Amino acid sequence: MPAHMTPEEFRRHGRQAVDWVAAYHERVESLPVASRVAPGEVRAGLPAHPPEQGEPFESLLEDLDRVIVPGLTHWQHPSFFGYFPANASGPAMLADLISAGLGVQGMLWATSPAGTELEQHVLDWLAELLDLPAAFRSTGAGGGVIQDTASTATLTALVAALHRATDGAARRDGLAGAGRQCAVYASDQAHSSVTKAVVVAGLGETALRAVRVDPSTQAMDPGHLAELVAADLAAGVLPVLVVATVGTTSTAAVDPVPEIGALCRAHGIWLHVDAAYAGVATVCPELRWLNAGLAHADSYATNPHKWLLTNFDCDAFYVADRGALLGALSILPEYLRNAATESGAVVDYRDWHIQLGRRFRALKLWAVIRWYGAEGLREHIRRHVAAAGALAGWVRADDRFELPAPANLSLVCFRLRGPDEPNEKLHARINESGAAYLSHTRVGGAYTLRMAIGGTHTRLDHVERAWHLVQRLTTDPPGPETTSGSRS
Ligand SMILES: *Cc1c(COP(=O)(O)O)cnc(C)c1O
Repeated sequence: MPAHMTPEEFRRHGRQAVDWVAAYHERVESLPVASRVAPGEVRAGLPAHPPEQGEPFESLLEDLDRVIVPGLTHWQHPSFFGYFPANASGPAMLADLISAGLGVQGMLWATSPAGTELEQHVLDWLAELLDLPAAFRSTGAGGGVIQDTASTATLTALVAALHRATDGAARRDGLAGAGRQCAVYASDQAHSSVTKAVVVAGLGETALRAVRVDPSTQAMDPGHLAELVAADLAAGVLPVLVVATVGTTSTAAVDPVPEIGALCRAHGIWLHVDAAYAGVATVCPELRWLNAGLAHADSYATNPHKWLLTNFDCDAFYVADRGALLGALSILPEYLRNAATESGAVVDYRDWHIQLGRRFRALKLWAVIRWYGAEGLREHIRRHVAAAGALAGWVRADDRFELPAPANLSLVCFRLRGPDEPNEKLHARINESGAAYLSHTRVGGAYTLRMAIGGTHTRLDHVERAWHLVQRLTTDPPGPETTSGSRS
């Protein structure tokens, strides 16, 4: 019998671990946001071989401080403004701990009825909070399921879309079952996971049509989408899926879903709306314009693990009609047969995604919604949207800078006017300072800094300090008369 941790030891070390996390959150603001380790440095701090004898839990906690923390970029630092946020919060962390403790496998209703029913219920709550169309509720033809990520949601939508577009032939015969080439459409600003989905699904990258965007908004040009679909139809290609993005990764642009949806409906094309970052913002009634056109969507995904206080991973994926999804993915081997499944009275979530086994992630979303309430969630979003509005104003007031795309929601993209190089240098200086962390993108080809506001503990004063840092670290890019000679 190995030396399992006794319940008494678990209590003691559990308190140590919780204390460690609480202390980490208290001191994270004093740490440099981005890790400064060199490649290989973390591994060099670890023993080459696993221990032959078990070690005390305390030595693990010591190594956490010694080796791991210096090798972290602190995503929970209030001055972390890179990529999109990855919120962690007290209730979500504790519920995740409970989920780990329960250690249940919710692949079937029968393998843990509460796992399935809580997930259905909480996703109905979320649909209500975000004011999503009624078709996405479990009480209608569709329903929601928690996926690990928005990337998986896009791939899952593609598999369901292929099933529907080929009347089931793709499931039986693979792509040969389609009888012709298939096409997927997304704007050139869509997330890279759309490319990955066409690759993984076996369609290949050439199946993906990059729809142009309006350069002033970075949103999909529906006229170009219509042209691409018409050209494919004329060439005998089968249009399978359109991915519209609500809140693009680069600039938080919002594709015109009503126009895109009307086109999809006219041609029977599956519409998936990827609202990974922005979707959760519709908890605020004044941001519900983001939901325009969702009545046309066959599927929809948003990530509470980005901006809704639920630590990674938690993607809420909804379908308007679960028929195609289940048709594409249901498999019932003998060893999973059970009376509840045969009765048809229950949902078996293993038919709603790619993998079989699944974690009990609904617990953390449930904990978040109950702890904060709709009011608390709205405050969280509003605080960041207001801070982004203030930042955009400060950027506009400093004529060294420009906003190459409109500031949307809690994301502000800005750059020094002129060439890329001073922007790249400024960006490096900001991140090297340790006082704030930003990531970058290109807008119309130009190197652009992105400041995504949305950390659990990020307030207006953090944003203000970061902006002052940006200003302080800015050296005026050389004007036409000051060339390299005058300033080496
Ligand atoms: C972040 C993001 C994704 C990918 O999210 P994962 O959950 O990490 O897969 C997809 N689409 C958009 C628009 C995103 O912003």
